[in-house]
Amino acid sequence: MQSQSTNLASYAVQNSAGRVYEEPGDEHRNPFQRDRDRIVHSRAFRRLQAKTQVFVAYFGDHYRDRMTHSLEVSLVARDISRRLKLNEDLAEAIALAHDLGHTPFGHAGEEALNKMMEKYNSFYEHNQQSRRIVAKLEKSYPNFDGLNLTKEILDGLLKHNPKPEEKLLDFAASPHLEAQITDKSDEIAYTNHDLDDGLRSGLITVEQLEKLELWREAADVIDNRFKRDTYINKPEGPQRRTSRIISVLISQMISNLYNQTLQNIEEKNVKTVDDIRKQSVKLAHFSDDFLPKIKEIRSFLMTNFYNHPQVNEKVQKGQRIIQALFSHYMDKPEHLPQNHRDQINIGEPLHIVVKDYIAGMTDHFAEEQFNRLT
Ligand code: MG
Repeated sequence: MQSQSTNLASYAVQNSAGRVYEEPGDEHRNPFQRDRDRIVHSRAFRRLQAKTQVFVAYFGDHYRDRMTHSLEVSLVARDISRRLKLNEDLAEAIALAHDLGHTPFGHAGEEALNKMMEKYNSFYEHNQQSRRIVAKLEKSYPNFDGLNLTKEILDGLLKHNPKPEEKLLDFAASPHLEAQITDKSDEIAYTNHDLDDGLRSGLITVEQLEKLELWREAADVIDNRFKRDTYINKPEGPQRRTSRIISVLISQMISNLYNQTLQNIEEKNVKTVDDIRKQSVKLAHFSDDFLPKIKEIRSFLMTNFYNHPQVNEKVQKGQRIIQALFSHYMDKPEHLPQNHRDQINIGEPLHIVVKDYIAGMTDHFAEEQFNRLT
């Protein structure tokens, strides 16, 4: 079996504890590389290309969808993992799978679906759905449902206070550091690409961003490095500047996370994966002085971008579509595709089957079904 590196830290995941269904090893790939390939070849992964991250995807082709987002998360996660001598393959695979469970229409879709599920004393949560997809819903192996991923990846997809019975490996607050780093990499990726998408859409402006501390610091770095008047009048001059500023922001967030995490590892005297799993708080986080600056950007985006009236209009439409589709299929399960009706036949409750079907839809497929059925 190939291993990614002989240079892993002692607290990195060295090897997999295995899969739920035992399988023979692979000559050329380690288990996490194999999982990464299974994830990328899954149908759920391909659907990410047509799922909204924020609602500006409708405005043009240059905005992030969930697939480009997942790829960016994997770049950040791999970068930090490499620097911390963690298992890069494991982090990459978790990153690529982390958003598989998202509904169409972004977080708005998730809220709407959750509301519908509450009527059946149930709920919808995208992290759990990501795990459900890889553990059960993908069907491409004759001998098991799902992709039979390693336990490290399945646990790595459980982000927020998992129940004891959900954990395959024994951990307190969070699984291995590779999962923790990937979680933070998600935040680094979306914070920065949402700034970029927000600017491109014209819904937020550079003048607004200049009021944010971290943006101003990054802008100073760029304005000291490149003389503004040498490029600002070139085609797309201002965009060249903001693109470089965002690049600095990403680097600064990565460095801060790396430095603080390394400091935590040293202070807690962490030597093994077990030491990490025993910690009651997560070891991967930003420093205390840096966190408020990121929060400032997050709350700026919340107010001015995610809740922009033009975005909200789309959000509400997306929520109406999800609610209408849910009610429709609950009333008329015969309208579900055969493979989903098969799930009812093997005893899956109808609201769960309807939830799985709608959650898996891409934005435009959901809209198409809505137009066709209503
Ligand atoms: Mg994400």
